[in-house]
Amino acid sequence: LDEVKKIDPEIAQAIVDEQNRQNSHIELIASENWVSEAVMAAMGSPLTNKYAEGYPGKRYYGGCDCVDVVENLAIERAKELFGCDYANVQPHSGAQANLAVQFAICEPGDTIMGMNLAHGGHLTHGSPVNISGKYFNIVPYGVNDEGFIDYDKLREIALETKPKMIIAGASAYARAIDFKKFREVADEVGAVLMVDMAHIAGLVAAGLHPDPIPYADVVTTTTHKTLRGPRGGLILCNQEAADKYNFNKAIFPGIQGGPLMHVIAAKAVCFKEALSEDFKKYQQAVVDNAQALCGGLLKRGIKIVSGGTDNHLMLVDLTNFDLTGKAVEKWLDEAHITANKNTIPNDPKSPFVTSGVRLGTPAVTSRGMNTEDMDQIAEAIALVIKGGEEKIPEARIIVQKLTEKYPLI
Ligand code: PLP
Repeated sequence: LDEVKKIDPEIAQAIVDEQNRQNSHIELIASENWVSEAVMAAMGSPLTNKYAEGYPGKRYYGGCDCVDVVENLAIERAKELFGCDYANVQPHSGAQANLAVQFAICEPGDTIMGMNLAHGGHLTHGSPVNISGKYFNIVPYGVNDEGFIDYDKLREIALETKPKMIIAGASAYARAIDFKKFREVADEVGAVLMVDMAHIAGLVAAGLHPDPIPYADVVTTTTHKTLRGPRGGLILCNQEAADKYNFNKAIFPGIQGGPLMHVIAAKAVCFKEALSEDFKKYQQAVVDNAQALCGGLLKRGIKIVSGGTDNHLMLVDLTNFDLTGKAVEKWLDEAHITANKNTIPNDPKSPFVTSGVRLGTPAVTSRGMNTEDMDQIAEAIALVIKGGEEKIPEARIIVQKLTEKYPLI
């Protein structure tokens, strides 16, 4: 940081401020995490200087011998980690990975079924404001009144609309996804099954969530959520789909130019870390902590969509307190707990206001916190939800004790 300070003190200060914010706050945003020093160092390496359009052994630039080593290692490790035959490690983000897969398989105007954004799906699964919603005819599916994916309804919609592609995967769904059921529906209607496992990739790698690879034609993910790598995307599939669809071409030259070799190096480091026993223990702790946080909230009278969680996140339902997600997000922030407002299924409020808050445990678990600490966090959150603004100072004392107990940097 000294070099940044010398050249650009304003940016250096913003980085220090952010570091301090991360230290002094409890991070419960379900899609965030803390990378290892090794991942961080790979991202800040001289590989950022290199142009390498193309793929290992087939580049459009000279001097690619070293970055070829990096990309080949990242590919081989991704394949080993997820037990598949093909990996493309170049997507700059999860959104890029999803767009490339849609671009490789579908034509503009084709019908795609994706999970309703308001029920926990992601923008790139067909939201009208996203390119997926503009280029394709989107048919959404969702959850039932209990908050679980309604597989019968999904089948009914698929039989009626005959989609070219069905997308399984979500951003705010706390329950295990039954990929076998998705496969059966896809087979019945002749659709391609794409699974976006961005949120649960770390759990899948550790064997703590059902594996989509045996069922999906193609799997996409981000590398920065539970997987604990650099910000980025990844495409995976078995040989049959790799032979049938040209995902490489869809990424480059389809929707991207040069790959970010420093990020690909960090992905390779992340995959190596994810292949370790320690990573499995970490993922188990993420799930244990989510159970503990959820249990702690439930026992304090806070409602959770679907009544619990099977993974790393949960959706708090604020309707019985007549509170908005927007207000609670702000109050929690003032108590130094970072979370995001989120719509709940059939939310009467707009996505800018919402009746819910999404909470996740990957980051607090990376910080070393355990199930007892989760109960303390549940206490702080319950104080704010049940007591309103007045209780913010009390909640902040709990947060301060915890953040001081687990210093980050
Ligand atoms: N897919 C899912 C399920 C996600 O939750 C997200 C991000 O939140 C993405 C894709 C997009 O990832 P990115 O922000 O890297 O584009």
